[in-house]
Amino acid sequence: MVPTGGRTSGVLPYEEMKTRMDKTVGVLAIQGDFERHIYQLGLVGARPVEVRLPGDLDKLDALILPGGESTTINIMIDRFDLRELLVRFGRSKPVFGTCAGMIMLAKKIENNTSNVNALGLLDIDVDRNGYGRQVHSWEDKVDADLAGQKAKLTATFIRAPRVTRVGPEIATLASWRNDPVLIRQNRLLAASFHAELDDDTTLLEYFLTRV
Ligand code: GLN
Repeated sequence: MVPTGGRTSGVLPYEEMKTRMDKTVGVLAIQGDFERHIYQLGLVGARPVEVRLPGDLDKLDALILPGGESTTINIMIDRFDLRELLVRFGRSKPVFGTCAGMIMLAKKIENNTSNVNALGLLDIDVDRNGYGRQVHSWEDKVDADLAGQKAKLTATFIRAPRVTRVGPEIATLASWRNDPVLIRQNRLLAASFHAELDDDTTLLEYFLTRV
């Protein structure tokens, strides 16, 4: 049992998990649903740090780029002088991007009429609203393979990006109707859906312990 009351996947024995969760994890907190990630980090006993300014990236073990609106996040990244630092961080430490966060991690954005300047860390191409607009948002269960452990994740797709190309280094951990929706490239993890909206911390635990 996790004393904080979080629902956990049981991916690891608790004692082992507790020591591995002893991490300082930044959440880019300039726009989007960063509060949900901070809440979930609290559930698993990690130390969340809101990242807005360059100095906030110091001493982090890992970073989460939340969902939201990539056009806004893109502008704010430059306004707060974070771009170069985020790229450097992603080259050496674990980063988990969800939805708009996945878009920001991508190498290329298709039909990029809004001129979002992706960080180019993850060898994938994405179509920003590849499943349609807000009315085409939905929830489903997706089967994920997390380090050999099978997990059924509740996935909420909100104006989700569609992954249109994956490079040779990419491992697909979950698909939805044959589209990759959860992928990993070494220390980088990205989901086109939101898994942080309820108390199920399975994916976060996987990120903190295995990525
Ligand atoms: N499609 C949105 C964008 O381009 C992302 C939506 C989300 O993060 N839920 O930023």
